[in-house]
Amino acid sequence: MTKHLSPDIRVPIDPDNPSIERHEDLCIRCGKCRDVCRDEISVLTYYDLSKTNDVPICVHCGQCANVCPVNSITEKSEVDTLKAAIADSEKLVIVSTSPSVRVSIGEGFGEDPGTFSEGKMVALLRALGFDIVLDTDFAADMTIVEEASELLSRVTKKSAPLPQFTSCCPAWVKFVETYYPDLLPNISSAKSPIGMQGPTIKSWYAKKQGIDPKTIMNVCLTPCTAKKFEIRREEMNSSATYWNEPSLRDMDLCITTRELIAWAKDAGIDYKELPESDFDSLMSEKSGAGVIFGATGGVMEAALRAAYEYLNNKPASKNLLQLSAVRGYEGIRTTSVQLTDSLAVRVAVIYGTANVRLFLEEQKLSDFDFIEVMTCPGGCIGGGGQPKHLETADD
Ligand code: SF4
Repeated sequence: MTKHLSPDIRVPIDPDNPSIERHEDLCIRCGKCRDVCRDEISVLTYYDLSKTNDVPICVHCGQCANVCPVNSITEKSEVDTLKAAIADSEKLVIVSTSPSVRVSIGEGFGEDPGTFSEGKMVALLRALGFDIVLDTDFAADMTIVEEASELLSRVTKKSAPLPQFTSCCPAWVKFVETYYPDLLPNISSAKSPIGMQGPTIKSWYAKKQGIDPKTIMNVCLTPCTAKKFEIRREEMNSSATYWNEPSLRDMDLCITTRELIAWAKDAGIDYKELPESDFDSLMSEKSGAGVIFGATGGVMEAALRAAYEYLNNKPASKNLLQLSAVRGYEGIRTTSVQLTDSLAVRVAVIYGTANVRLFLEEQKLSDFDFIEVMTCPGGCIGGGGQPKHLETADD
């Protein structure tokens, strides 16, 4: 792989980048953005600007923004567009919340990291003016059904190459498209939870509720700056096909946990005093599998549990799958999981795309059946749009 050292000590950022932007006057040239992009994500220095017409490659993970101590790099905010939609009486503004946000949002208001604040999060969204609040865990369950069924089809019917890689992380998908296109047939064909939640709202939900889909402003609240890129991918327009209405996009806007916290503070909302609230009904029911999506290994565990249940017609008991080897926070974990007496699947869980390069150098892919990759440290819980953990940062 060609390495090309940037002459700058910072990550270059294209002005058209949909996920992040640089505020030039704030930069103190500390080089933290360069370090994380090069050493943990392994994008910077792994391309040659002279061959990309000086357009930087970015997988949109936002880790550069997360480590920036002075907010010189931030997510590209969509809050102003969102406020305008909320003020527009013709628009029905629906927000769907990702699993990790409910355990990180409290940090922005002085609670301990990891505090489960689902009820407060929903209440805050209502206080800010969202018309309907739904849970993306609903679509996470659909993603699991798809991923588990596809895995069994690949393993038992050889319907597509093994190993199957997970597809929920848009930064990982772009990393493969950029650096390992030969692996694309190995990526699960399942859309991410947000990729499924958007069109389901604009088709099934809209029909069921008698809503004109053109009036819906679909918003996802995520820990992830890469989702701002994912929702703009050309193929994220299934609702346009469903309604034969080319102007429809499945998801219209994406805001991060950090954007929400800053907006709430700006609006003067007293978070601590908010009475807890519940999600709206329809498309907020969930099995619990989606909740573990936020942490590294969560997608793998949920998919293997579903695959076990399909094969054995009963749920896997808590310890049955010996998944302890793939729990934890090492960057690369591997194990073998017995799904039936005669079928074991060999699995790996990886976070940090630099670890993927290591894995591909050190391991034989043919030794594995199923591999989960999340770009951010520890999975989405460490996403590029989450509250920062820097003493000098202003969250
Ligand atoms: Fe987004 Fe999660 Fe991937 Fe990070 S690990 S880029 S938060 S999907």
